[in-house]
Formats: sequence, C-alpha cells, structure tokens
Amino acid sequence: MKIICIGCNYIDHITELGRKIPEQPLFFLKPDSAILQRNRPFFIPDFSQEVDHELELLVRINRLGKYIQEKYAHSYYDEIGLGIDFTARDLQRELMNRGEPWEKAKAFDGSAVVSPFVKKDKFADLYNLNFSLLKNGEKVQKGNSGQMLFHIDKIISFVSQFITLKIGDIIFTGTPAGVGKIAINDRLQGYIEEELFFDFKIK
Ligand code: MG
Repeated sequence: MKIICIGCNYIDHITELGRKIPEQPLFFLKPDSAILQRNRPFFIPDFSQEVDHELELLVRINRLGKYIQEKYAHSYYDEIGLGIDFTARDLQRELMNRGEPWEKAKAFDGSAVVSPFVKKDKFADLYNLNFSLLKNGEKVQKGNSGQMLFHIDKIISFVSQFITLKIGDIIFTGTPAGVGKIAINDRLQGYIEEELFFDFKIK
C-alpha cells in the first residue's frame, strides 16, 4: 500500500507558512514504513530539532482505479480516519531552499499517524466535518473539511491521473492552520467531531 499526502489544501495553513495557493492539488508520498498506529508513542528522530504536527483527515481507498472521474470518485472510498503528517520542518525548509525532494522531512519512520477507520456513512456530510487536535489537553488545531481547497473527490480524481490507486491506499487530505512543534512528553489526542480517534505520547 502507499500513502498519498496532499499539501497546501487549507488557505489558513498556506497563510501561516507563507506558501502560494496551488492551482491544482499538490501531492507527495510516504512509504508504508512511516505508519504509526494503535496509539503507539512517536519517537522524535535525532535528525530534526523541529518536528511539527499536521492534523489531517484520512481516506482509505477500497477499489482499484486509474483515471477516475470526479463524479465517480465517491465510490472509491467508504472509510474516513484521522492522522498526523509529522513533518521535520527544519529539514523541509532546507530541502525546499535547495529545490530537493521532501522525503527526508516527510517520509521518515513514524511520520504517518493513522487512526482506526470508520464508515463514511457515519457522518451526515463529508463536506462539513469538524476535526481537532489537543496537545496536553489544549486545543491547538481545528479544521472543517468544508475549508479544503480541493475536496476528497477532486483529490482522488487528480491523483489517479498519475498514479493507480489500490485497495488499502491512504490519502492524507491536508492540514488546517495551527501546525506546531512537538516536544518529548507531549500527549496528542485527535477528534473528529466529538469522537476520539487517537491518543498517544511523544517520546
Ligand atoms: Mg500535511
């Protein structure tokens, strides 16, 4: 399986990082070795002094597809989850300045927190889903899926023009504003609406 991550998909986050609004979805990949599940602790890697949390809604692909039209994209996923796209911001800055690929800053072990998935039918409106992140009990990130620049169906359609989507692939749909540095002993809890999706510690 593979993990596809969308960057710069919320205006307030683009503003906080001083990036440009993309004209089409911007995506990158993480390997399966990046997955961190079941509330296991995240170990801050030695190579970064500035690992940020990026809270993101997740979608799991349930059908093989290529060149998926946007109007049919909804039939390629039926589960939603919540995750964190951990980012070594200091390294990412260096890599971007040098015009190099982002993998060292984005694809490292444990950098893709993945919650259990739930059926999308559980939610009344996928275009109006609130999600939030608590750090040590304090709300540090919140977003609403309606604020996405490119919504799930558009992302699936766009990515599948380039890469075949397979059963089990996970899409990280981008982070809203409020990204921030983590520290040892932090506790991170992620919610979709009022439901807890993950709860783990930083080591
Ligand atoms: Mg992200």
